[in-house]
Amino acid sequence: MTGMSTANAAVRHRIRVTGVVQGVGFRPFVHRLANDLALGGYVGNDAGGVFVEVEGQPSDVARFERRLLDEAPPMARIAGVEPTQVGTTGERQFRIVESDRGGGARTFISPDVAVCDECLDELFDLTDRRSRYPFINCTNCGPRFSITVRLPYDRPNTTMRGFAMCRACATEYADPADRRFHAQPVACPACGPRISFSTVIGGAGEQVVEGTDAAIAATQAALADGQVVAVKGLGGYHLACDATSATAVATLRARKARPDKPLAVMVRDLAVAQVLANVGPAEAAVLTSPARPIVLLLKRGGSRLTELVAPDSPYLGLLLPYTPLHHLLFHPVPGSTATVPYALVMTSGNLADEPICYDDDDARDRLGHLVDAWLAHNRPIHVPCDDSVVRVEAGAELPVRRSRGYAPLPLRLPFVAVALLAAGGELKNTFCLASGRDAWMSQHIGDMGALPTLTAFKRSVRQFAEMYQVSPQVVAADAHPGYQTRRWAEDEADLPVELVQHHHAHIAAVMAEHGLPLGERVIGFAFDGTGYGSDGAIWGGEVLVAGYDEFERAAHLRYVPLPGGDTTIRKPYRAALAHLWAAGIDWSEDLPPVLASTPAELTVLRRQLERGIQCVPTSSMGRLFDAVSSLLGARHTVSYEAQAAIELETVAGAHMNEPMPDYHFQVTGDEIDPGPLLRAIVDDIRRGCAPGPVAAGFHAAVASLVAETADRLGRSSGIERVALSGGVFQNVLLVRLARARLERLGMQVLTHRLVPPNDGGLALGQAVVAASRYQSPPGREARR
Ligand SMILES: [Zn+2]
Ligand SMILES: [Zn+2]
Repeated sequence: MTGMSTANAAVRHRIRVTGVVQGVGFRPFVHRLANDLALGGYVGNDAGGVFVEVEGQPSDVARFERRLLDEAPPMARIAGVEPTQVGTTGERQFRIVESDRGGGARTFISPDVAVCDECLDELFDLTDRRSRYPFINCTNCGPRFSITVRLPYDRPNTTMRGFAMCRACATEYADPADRRFHAQPVACPACGPRISFSTVIGGAGEQVVEGTDAAIAATQAALADGQVVAVKGLGGYHLACDATSATAVATLRARKARPDKPLAVMVRDLAVAQVLANVGPAEAAVLTSPARPIVLLLKRGGSRLTELVAPDSPYLGLLLPYTPLHHLLFHPVPGSTATVPYALVMTSGNLADEPICYDDDDARDRLGHLVDAWLAHNRPIHVPCDDSVVRVEAGAELPVRRSRGYAPLPLRLPFVAVALLAAGGELKNTFCLASGRDAWMSQHIGDMGALPTLTAFKRSVRQFAEMYQVSPQVVAADAHPGYQTRRWAEDEADLPVELVQHHHAHIAAVMAEHGLPLGERVIGFAFDGTGYGSDGAIWGGEVLVAGYDEFERAAHLRYVPLPGGDTTIRKPYRAALAHLWAAGIDWSEDLPPVLASTPAELTVLRRQLERGIQCVPTSSMGRLFDAVSSLLGARHTVSYEAQAAIELETVAGAHMNEPMPDYHFQVTGDEIDPGPLLRAIVDDIRRGCAPGPVAAGFHAAVASLVAETADRLGRSSGIERVALSGGVFQNVLLVRLARARLERLGMQVLTHRLVPPNDGGLALGQAVVAASRYQSPPGREARR
């Protein structure tokens, strides 16, 4: 072509594609597209994403670049497409080249994806060579994050490296026209992982059942018999049992030391879910999404589930099968008479607050005494990942736990961040690795109080830094001196530490999620149970006028002395007694929290309060919800976080359309006093008012407090944006009421859609606050 001067001279473009483009069928897609347009060149993976060179007519190359964006595979998330012109080589063929391990740019790992419909069709097609194969997958579905050992995402870098492909699988893998072309976990019954069923692993009388159908049938029989079975899944072990059997669920609860906390239930399909709970279109979309989270839904009456699944709760956490193995469990085994389960409890395989088990040896040690049998497999899990949990509010997802199916999708930061690691909070820990405009939130790690959780945290931090090749320059941590995460940051991270106030981090997380630029400020309501305040008190009912780099505490709930501080969290009646005492209300014996304590305890508490011994001042909104819950007799002691508040929301929810009492906080300066509200509630209780309307009135009062405070601060500051965060805003009733009142005032309301309002979202806020301190706005010196 050289020397020819035609108008249609070929051009060659080198194109760099970044984002989630590995492990999602991107290279086969590029290959098909290039062939379609008769372009020459090649495509490959490297640590920076996908690199492409295409050569052909300029109009075809332009068309190629457009279609690259428009027709990308469903699981791809393209962050950028950057073409540059390079010299032509005359290449006519298009090929896929080997991965390049070099390259300084970065890539992203896809989350694990639920098995797709095409694979499911093959799974239940008795003539298919992968018929009833529990590890069937393709470029559009299957394990990703949980099997990734390092990048680039290629088979030798996954836990599938131990399985050599058979000839048939290798042919599919190498055929650009095949839907398993370069699907890294591709496998079949001849060459891939296998399942087995066993009883008492390693012990006397161990029985092992090999073969898919025999193992599935044995599992179904064990479940039907009321046994607890450890089922190895995608991101870890589940403990499974029959959700219609009170005996089975009671056994599981007793062994797992989990008395009341609702257990997730898996059912065969959407039709069964609709029998058990109210499933609207938005809920159905989330239930069947490729992420397949646990969705908290309102229970329907008269279901076959035992009440023990979610005692005293109007909600049911439902999820649908997301691995081929799950689907097999919910379908009859040909030739077997084993009963097919109707609904299975599927709870994380762990003890109480410990992290999920994912390693086979560790699972034997830690789960051995909890289970009667095992349904295991030999595909190693490298990255443990719990199921995600979401609620649906205003037709959109409100994350409660962001983990499998979502992690480690990056969040786009509103500004360029220094490479940093945010250590997250103490409960529901997740951490965040950030660099440039990307923030990778980790999967759910757990409650840092347990030593195994700290170990899991350290391992995951190492994994993230290795996978993404990011060397943090700074570590961000909560300011609480007692948090394990702060201790880790200061003692072990060996980097400069930026301390971030807890509630500031909550508000910054919402701001970042909504892409607010640096310099923006919001009126932030950070309502939660516990967070270390700048004055050493326990905060939690905070109104902040906040930007990323700083905040002003504009208002807060009045301090109440809490005897025993954080130990009160599991005893809402003590929060009630403290609030009554602070409001000057007698501990008379007609009040439920007084009846819930012993005379001796009352004497001790009174002495503590009068003398201020071992009393921690707190402005916690979470404790106020606890107090009201106890006053209404709804809940005096709890076995899991926010239990009392959830039950209060439930009581209120049924009475929102009826007349309700009109309660008010008293606001003086920057202090919000719940005293008048509590006195009115106590009067109503004494008059024999039913709990429902009182709980409804309380919710309305908190929503009005938010609206009135936002209105007042909006007028004085000119800010029209309101951000709601903190665990209290997992309460969808409260969010709904507050949103309606704020929007009526013409204010813009920012709530969480991507990370949880609880401490599971804290790390994102810590990351942006710390990063903002390393910016150098005009006229100001950067900190470093
Ligand atoms: Zn598939
Ligand atoms: Zn094979």
